[in-house]
Amino acid sequence: MLEERRSCEFQLWRVNFTVLTILAVFCFLYYVSIFCVVVPWLSYSVPGITNIWVLTLTTGLSLYCYLFCVVLDPGRPPPGYLPDPEVSSVQEVKRKDGAARFCTKCQHFKPPRSHHCRKCQRCVLRMDHHCPWTNNCIGHGNYRAFFLFLIYVNAALIHVVGLLAAHTLHILQTIHLQRVLRTGLQAKPVLLAAGWIGSIWLWAVLQALAFAIALPLTIGLLLLFVWHVHLVAVNKTTIEYQEGVTASIDAAASGLGVVELHQHPYDLGLYSNMMHIFGSNPGQWAAPPCRPTAGGTAYPTKWDMPANGEH
Ligand SMILES: [Zn+2]
Ligand SMILES: [Zn+2]
Repeated sequence: MLEERRSCEFQLWRVNFTVLTILAVFCFLYYVSIFCVVVPWLSYSVPGITNIWVLTLTTGLSLYCYLFCVVLDPGRPPPGYLPDPEVSSVQEVKRKDGAARFCTKCQHFKPPRSHHCRKCQRCVLRMDHHCPWTNNCIGHGNYRAFFLFLIYVNAALIHVVGLLAAHTLHILQTIHLQRVLRTGLQAKPVLLAAGWIGSIWLWAVLQALAFAIALPLTIGLLLLFVWHVHLVAVNKTTIEYQEGVTASIDAAASGLGVVELHQHPYDLGLYSNMMHIFGSNPGQWAAPPCRPTAGGTAYPTKWDMPANGEH
């Protein structure tokens, strides 16, 4: 009970300079997209309002999930945790003598899939990786929030990149058209027509800067999203993937069978894997989380499934 309460505490000390910088980037991209692109260009027309609503929604949801990943506990082994000898022998035996995994730094047994994080100086349940961009580990408690963050932030970034690119094209076409029509050297594109701000150059610099930030961010986060789609599909963590690769390299080097070492006990089939990570109700999979995912000390394996199941 005490542990459950502790796991729900907000870890505000996780908010460091990196986190504040990322929040500032969020705000900057949102500001430029709405107030330098959508409002002057589309005004409060139906497309304008639709763009504002969609971008506000995706930005708000990604900010929420991001802050969730920063300040909420990824999950720690409960005090006095004792492994189930039968389960641990089937699921994973990391020690060569076959004994249960024990963290010598935290001085307690490790539940399946948990690992000790050197940065956080503690064990983390179903540890995926330590994320410097959230100054926190991504583990059992916040993995769903992390995955949803990747969905929402990619939607928002693709929207931002699309808006900036479309607006730049629109301005170039406007300038070209004005030249063609010989409306005079002072003819200005749509930005100055709004009359909100004195310098078109400031807006151009802001949009160029936003584009220079948003484009590589979108590419990087899209790749990260695709990677985690793969991990979710096979119910693996990044650490387990790395361990699998290492094991297969070791096996190849020592001449052992690679196939058996590749068997991942927690891969229960796509639908079961998704239910396990996002919850039993598919209607709520995309809903933002309001508390850390419960449990985390035991996981069903493919050997727990009925013989005529998905595997
Ligand atoms: Zn530990
Ligand atoms: Zn960590």
